[in-house]
Amino acid sequence: MSDIVREAQDFLMNTNVEQKIYGDNSSAIYNTTLNELHRLENMMSFYRETSEVSLLNQQSGKKTIKLSKEMMLVLQQSNYYSLLSESAFNIMLSPLIQLWKKLGKKNELPSDKDIENTLKLCRNNNLMLDASDDTAYLALEGCMVDLGGIGKGFAADVCCNVYKDMGATSAFINLGGNVKAIGNRADGNQWTIGIQHPDKPRGNCYCAMICSDLSVVTSGGYERYQEINGVKYHHILDGGTGYPSKTDLKSVTVVSQSSIQADALSTAAFVMGLKKGIDLVYMSKCVGAIFFTLSNEIYMTKGVKQHIKLLERLTCYEV
Ligand code: AMP
Ligand code: MG
Repeated sequence: MSDIVREAQDFLMNTNVEQKIYGDNSSAIYNTTLNELHRLENMMSFYRETSEVSLLNQQSGKKTIKLSKEMMLVLQQSNYYSLLSESAFNIMLSPLIQLWKKLGKKNELPSDKDIENTLKLCRNNNLMLDASDDTAYLALEGCMVDLGGIGKGFAADVCCNVYKDMGATSAFINLGGNVKAIGNRADGNQWTIGIQHPDKPRGNCYCAMICSDLSVVTSGGYERYQEINGVKYHHILDGGTGYPSKTDLKSVTVVSQSSIQADALSTAAFVMGLKKGIDLVYMSKCVGAIFFTLSNEIYMTKGVKQHIKLLERLTCYEV
């Protein structure tokens, strides 16, 4: 193993991106991933007016839009995880997200009528994809696609493909908590990925995931929320109720070879709660998941047991 290493921190895709790349070619590899991340941001950003996501959103209810093959793939994957999770995972919730944000700033809650009207725009089947010519159409004006729950996972997969294609045998990327590692660390040991404690300041981990060639992604209500009349409302919504998901979980961490899978499943499982979330994880055939419940208990599926080192004394069940 060469001792040449490229470690970098950037702010991209609205989040902190940390990379560690080992090997002779590490600077060239880093430059390539940086270009790729800019490219993906231009494709998937909700806020950039010229991104493919924005072009699609701007033409909702009006025009069919030609997409890149890559964008089509992300949308198809999104639909697949919606289907698998009975719509708990839903990239069409943006009108609802915007409603909560807008009213939250005024310290107001949405009315039942607001929610009912907005939910009509949020149905999955308002997004129509035609894979034969890579086109998409949003059926109603005001419909919007938001890849906030899956895009970082896709980007982590793309960067790890760059690492491998360009010859890195040891590398790591963390896109705002969306982690994927290639090979082992430079010293030959497996990577250690800390899992944030949902109730403690950033950087305090309740467990470590020891792994190689895997992605580890956490979703939790603690990550982002707004306060309305002194009550916390988190950023992951339930398309059934129109409210932030009333889950029995503080966080879910999913482990998978595929980061896009881990990203989608962690968001979905958080919405579904412990029982259905466990079923989802087993159905999807990812490596496994670890659930942190509202009552501070830990549930882990069989596949992750060998990877987990608990750092705190917590009641832990294998499911
Ligand atoms: P994550 O951190 O991957 O769990 O994704 C959370 C982000 O995904 C939110 O900030 C929203 O942009 C979006 N989002 C919120 N609720 C959902 C949902 N039920 N399904 C898919 N994406 C969602
Ligand atoms: Mg996600």
